[in-house]
Amino acid sequence: MKKLGWAEMAFGNVTAKEYRVINGAVDGIEALQSADVSLAEQVHKLFRLDIEQAEEIDRLRLTVRVLTEVLVDTLGLDETVLQYRLEAAIDEAEESKRATQKQGKVIRCEGCTTMVPSSRTNITAFGVVCDDCFARQS
Ligand SMILES: [Zn+2]
Repeated sequence: MKKLGWAEMAFGNVTAKEYRVINGAVDGIEALQSADVSLAEQVHKLFRLDIEQAEEIDRLRLTVRVLTEVLVDTLGLDETVLQYRLEAAIDEAEESKRATQKQGKVIRCEGCTTMVPSSRTNITAFGVVCDDCFARQS
């Protein structure tokens, strides 16, 4: 849609108010069209990032496989033991992640600088402090 020019208002069958409303609507449509383009670009970037990350994961898998083969071939390490240790490390990392998610947001105490769950913090005039520091201040 095209904006109305001054000639349509001056010589056409359009009042000044209609002229403003129509041209305002055209501006709105143009803004929506550019927002669509921006959204499409963001989706395209996400797809590209996804592809790049998949390629990086493939390279990391290959690296782990080659390193495992080198350890088994040159040092004579038991491949099954390596596999068990790898699985145990993955399980441990996932458990740690679950524990962090369960604990919720973690905040740095202004008193002792340790990281504590937000549920065990207190807001004071000196900042957010953990329960222990809060008890010492009281
Ligand atoms: Zn503290």
